[in-house]
Amino acid sequence: MYLLFDETKECVIIDPGCYDDKERAILSKFISDNALKPVKLLNTHCHLDHIFGNRFVAEKYDLKLEINKKDLPVLDSFKKTCDLYGMNCDPSPQPSVYLEEGDIIEFGNSTLEILFTPGHSPGSITFYNTEQKFMIAGDVLFYGSIGRTDLPGGSHETLINNIKTKLFPLGDDFKVYSGHGQMTTIGFEKKNNPFLT
Ligand SMILES: [Zn+2]
Repeated sequence: MYLLFDETKECVIIDPGCYDDKERAILSKFISDNALKPVKLLNTHCHLDHIFGNRFVAEKYDLKLEINKKDLPVLDSFKKTCDLYGMNCDPSPQPSVYLEEGDIIEFGNSTLEILFTPGHSPGSITFYNTEQKFMIAGDVLFYGSIGRTDLPGGSHETLINNIKTKLFPLGDDFKVYSGHGQMTTIGFEKKNNPFLT
């Protein structure tokens, strides 16, 4: 999960993976300790580990869910997937807003832009900020790796193509915050990522 905020204290919550009460308490404590005001609930994509806390966040902070429409089938299979893994999941609310490439998300004095970067899932999107040169890439690109493409709606070729034609042009100094693992940069991945060199 990523939580972004600025000097206005408004914040956006991206991919709340908080599964149980303990994890959810960490999130709500951070928000109250820092006097933050959550204004948006966003998903890069709807795989279960990114949306366990969707309902909790939506209800506690009275937020509407925002995703790309192509990930709706993934969201709709949430319960089935949870059952498959033997997990007891809170059903996610349905999205109220559909995000598309080129949309601009505003909170406080800040903005996030959107790229449509499917391949790992059919409706994966990447949020990025050009002033501070960072992106929230979901499971599209990792430090030294890329997202798996064997799940429903995945495509290895599409994923590689989107990384190269949409993420790479943002620039070598762009920081990449992924859904799993450590932060990286576009420059580092261009040079060192075995899937992309
Ligand atoms: Zn995923």
